[in-house]
Amino acid sequence: MKKPGSKIPPFAALFSSSTRGTTVVQPNEVEELVDIDRVPRETSGGAEADLAFLSILSGEENPLVEKTVPAAPEAPARSVMDTMDESTPLASQLAHETRRRERLSHRQLPKPPHTRYLTISNQKGGVGKTTTTVNVAAALAAAGLNVLVVDIDPQGNASTALGVEHHADVDSIYDVLINDMALADVVAPCPDLEHLVVAPATIHLAGAEIELVSMVAREQRLRRALDQYAKHRESTGLPRLDYVFIDCPPSLGLLTVNAFVAAREVLIPIQCEYYALEGLSQLLKNIEMIQKHLNSDLVVSTILLTMYDGRTNLAAQVAAEVREHFPNQVLQAIIPRSVRISEAPSYQQTVITYDPNSTGALSYLEAAAELAERG
Ligand code: ATP
Ligand code: MG
Repeated sequence: MKKPGSKIPPFAALFSSSTRGTTVVQPNEVEELVDIDRVPRETSGGAEADLAFLSILSGEENPLVEKTVPAAPEAPARSVMDTMDESTPLASQLAHETRRRERLSHRQLPKPPHTRYLTISNQKGGVGKTTTTVNVAAALAAAGLNVLVVDIDPQGNASTALGVEHHADVDSIYDVLINDMALADVVAPCPDLEHLVVAPATIHLAGAEIELVSMVAREQRLRRALDQYAKHRESTGLPRLDYVFIDCPPSLGLLTVNAFVAAREVLIPIQCEYYALEGLSQLLKNIEMIQKHLNSDLVVSTILLTMYDGRTNLAAQVAAEVREHFPNQVLQAIIPRSVRISEAPSYQQTVITYDPNSTGALSYLEAAAELAERG
């Protein structure tokens, strides 16, 4: 696990092999998704075989191999997969994860032909909007793509997770929306990821909903700022942005409307719990209104199932129901409930930098790869 403040490893290596254009997105096997981050603790003192597999995967020396497999110099070299039996649930789970990592290592993410503008929205609170924004953005930036995260939630959670200052004195997206400050003057680099920049949110943004009401072109302000920023990057020789992610607050007020007008795509995270679809029709109606009156280009391009708990039938039922309603939008990748994902923000990190080997990081890498490959 990465220590707080430490730098990201050469993570782009995960996507390094050049099989671009030939790789087919491999679906996750939903029923096999459990939060493996928690498994070692929950099975402590369990089967020796499971511990052996854990050590194989973590690259540590495996005491069981020492004891039971004496060195045979003339034996042909074997891969990790060859050494795996899958006779216990944990071993089978680990083997499954290793296969997913293998598949991921053969993927190189394409650059989109134009900057993709995505807003991450769901008026339900706590469904994983911010977690999805920062981790998908981090996964794409780790793969070498140029990414901007715009935090327009007064809570400033995305700014926290990306390790960017956002106390009251910092120039922020509030100044862009209300005081006409250039976005270029407020963006800050994410300390852990070279290709990621962030427009932070401060507490001042809490008043912006009301201040915006009486302003000219109140729904267009973020879009204009983003257009100007794209021109600024071009004129100053900075590379073109590949992705812009806008992290929305859990409401459908003017801040969210600004995000809908600025974006071309909506990414909706849906938590795999009982009330998942409740309120979604209201969100879709609002998006329709925006399409009709303010931004005809806007589409709901992506739905991501989050906080999936593989041990419950309910999660599987919710996932199946969402897929039935939105067969073309739902990503195959599913984000499991994961302790590492929820811990990462307290170290001002994404799970991609905090614990790149965790199941949570793997799932967000898969989601990001799928998003990029779908185009
Ligand atoms: P808000 O509506 O308040 O902006 P949100 O939709 O942005 O919330 P998050 O802040 O991303 O939701 O997530 C809510 C909580 O759930 C956070 O504490 C986060 O760490 C945790 N969480 C998110 N995704 C997962 C996950 N896959 N596994 C475990 N915990 C998660
Ligand atoms: Mg949030």
